[in-house]
Amino acid sequence: MSDCIFCKIIAGEIPSCKVYEDDQVLAFLDISQTTKGHTLVIPKEHVKNVLDMSDTTASTLFSRIPKIARALQKATDAPAMNIITNNEELSGQTVFHAHVHLVPRYSEKDGISISYTTHEPDFEALGKMAEQIAKEVSV
Ligand code: 5GP
Ligand code: ZN
Repeated sequence: MSDCIFCKIIAGEIPSCKVYEDDQVLAFLDISQTTKGHTLVIPKEHVKNVLDMSDTTASTLFSRIPKIARALQKATDAPAMNIITNNEELSGQTVFHAHVHLVPRYSEKDGISISYTTHEPDFEALGKMAEQIAKEVSV
């Protein structure tokens, strides 16, 4: 896609610090370096995000994640890692070419903070929600 920054990185029109490449997947350092080693893993196919992705592209993309994540962990000695995808603007997606963030974690105060609100479980509502989602899943 001509106006996509990540397609330009794939095409070599914009420089990047590559850490992994094969015919379908590219991984390179995120320019923001939220923590040291922050890496993005992207499919070479232009697809907006995981919500738009085919099973085939998802299998290809996510199958590369463990080995790249382990390599990143070895290179940085980070004891932990957040692996994140933002899907659509409200979730924080700013580049609309699918990508997986690998963010090495060094301490609780290393620049990334993820917090979740928790609610008392309403098991009847949970059951209904699960049923509703299950109905929508296509096999
Ligand atoms: P998002 O917010 O969409 O989940 O993440 C997009 C990421 O792309 C951000 O973390 C941002 O720093 C990174 N990014 C944006 N433009 C560039 C660029 O030109 N080069 C690299 N290496 N990373 C970029
Ligand atoms: Zn693209």
